[in-house]
Amino acid sequence: MSDLDGPGFQACRLHEPIVDFYQHTAGWRLELWSRWSSTRRSGGCGQHGPAAARSTSELAHLEQVIAVERERASARIEALTRQFDAIVESSAIAPPDDEHDPEGSTVAFERAQVATLVTSARSRLAELEQAQQRLVGGWYGSCERCGQRIPVDRLLARPMARMCVACAATDRLRRA
Ligand SMILES: [Zn+2]
Repeated sequence: MSDLDGPGFQACRLHEPIVDFYQHTAGWRLELWSRWSSTRRSGGCGQHGPAAARSTSELAHLEQVIAVERERASARIEALTRQFDAIVESSAIAPPDDEHDPEGSTVAFERAQVATLVTSARSRLAELEQAQQRLVGGWYGSCERCGQRIPVDRLLARPMARMCVACAATDRLRRA
């Protein structure tokens, strides 16, 4: 346990059940520990968790980022849906003659393009909602593959990230 000691963290200062908990769960995701340790910290012990722990303020900030991104995604879906409806409506008023009117294929193309954008905006929103759920559940921000903590910069840039950069790259290669 003492190898965990570092600035602001001494294993010996933990109560016995906590040491016990940690020793039995050392293989678990760090995130669980960090969340659990942050609730413990609010008990006023004044000690900070291991360096790997995500601070409560960092989590609060990430939660805010996710909320903002969710709102953005919702607004985008709404705008794109309106755009899609407008295209459908305009082509209904003046149905394009696909065979003789080159405009017809343009409208179809435009409609397909907007439909694709709506789909991707919806999946982004779904991913953000899952991120929100992980955050509430206390396992947000750990790499799904290697269990390492995903750096905060990556989470700020991509709040729905489920893997660290290295694992995400491996995953992409595997899928390619
Ligand atoms: Zn990883």
